[in-house]
Amino acid sequence: MNERTAIIVGAGIGGLAAAVGLRAAGWDVTVFEQAPEIRATGAGISLWSNGLRALDLLGAGESIRAHGTVQGNGGIRTSAGHWLSRSSGRRLRVENDLSVLVLHRAELHECLLAAVRPDLVRTGATVVDVAQGKSSATVSYRTDHENEGVLTAALVVGADGIRSRVRGSVLPEAGAPRYAGWTPTDGDDGLRIYRDADLFHGPLLQGLRGVVVREPARLVAQCRLTDTPLGGGGWAAGLHSPVLGDVVLQVASVLGVWHLGAGCLPLSVGSVELFAPIPDGSPFRVTAEDLRPTAGGVTVSATVTDPRGRVLQRWRDVGAVSTPDMSERFAEAVRRWNGATR
Ligand SMILES: Cc1cc2nc3c(=O)[nH]c(=O)nc-3n(C[C@H](O)[C@H](O)[C@H](O)COP(=O)(O)OP(=O)(O)OC[C@H]3O[C@@H](n4cnc5c(N)ncnc54)[C@H](O)[C@@H]3O)c2cc1C
Repeated sequence: MNERTAIIVGAGIGGLAAAVGLRAAGWDVTVFEQAPEIRATGAGISLWSNGLRALDLLGAGESIRAHGTVQGNGGIRTSAGHWLSRSSGRRLRVENDLSVLVLHRAELHECLLAAVRPDLVRTGATVVDVAQGKSSATVSYRTDHENEGVLTAALVVGADGIRSRVRGSVLPEAGAPRYAGWTPTDGDDGLRIYRDADLFHGPLLQGLRGVVVREPARLVAQCRLTDTPLGGGGWAAGLHSPVLGDVVLQVASVLGVWHLGAGCLPLSVGSVELFAPIPDGSPFRVTAEDLRPTAGGVTVSATVTDPRGRVLQRWRDVGAVSTPDMSERFAEAVRRWNGATR
């Protein structure tokens, strides 16, 4: 068998892009697609710089750019009109050297299909199984006319989407994907709070990963932190980790910082109800609300929930106060952390 034969399962964006790349590298490619014809569904798609760079390497970047336009300002609002996230095309370009191309999904698909050669795509062919051999793999498929067939190649690429049959054949233990009910905002958005010196915490304590809701008197944050037993694990208890509990106080403080326009620190807690421990190293959510101004600061209540919305802990009346030089002290701490971690 020719060592450079590949079967790609799925003619979505992933499968077609893989086909273009493999062909450019000299491989014989066959693409199986279950749909009777290649037809992209959906509306617009945003292509970030990393995706565009990949398409450039595949030689498809130019034709795809010709169909798109560079994104300006945008964002997502709640039904009540509050901003959930905002993006500025200018800031992306100037501060991060990034740009986002928006185009119709069908046009992206058509450009990729043209680059593959449409006759290499077998439509109406559903892959039902993949058997791995020593130096090859055999794909079993069924056509729309109830015919069955097999094809062997040196390489099989599973690009058959989120409910991948190929993954099920090759890695049955992986199971099906499970909807957690959360919109992922993990990453930059939350960590920016530390970089912007709204908080002064160093890497070991940076548990705030995403801002899900930002309203004047309410902040919902997606959090995750590995529990490090600082101070030899002192102050820890069955339902309480001081390290993970500190993330709750951080979220409460951030709401205060945004309200006061200045750094503030939690100094008191009215009451705490601990129903279950905050998970170590896996996602949880903190909702800070009931913001009330006090002399020199604010009080806030914070609720910790797991991905299914189960309440794990309730921290009421967290009192945070500000002093005139606190923001500068936070900034100084962040400068030190940055120096220390470089
Ligand atoms: C509402 C929405 C908006 C999105 N917006 C963006 C965005 O703006 N920017 C961005 O980068 N990403 C976006 N995404 C994500 C992006 O669309 C997907 O990551 C991408 O389309 C996945 O491509 P794929 O080729 O891996 O899979 P798919 O597009 O799912 O393609 C899989 C293909 O495999 C075929 N197939 C499945 N099973 C078999 C089988 N057994 N045999 C043969 N063929 C089979 C299917 O018919 C399909 O054609 C969005 C997703 C959604 C849902």
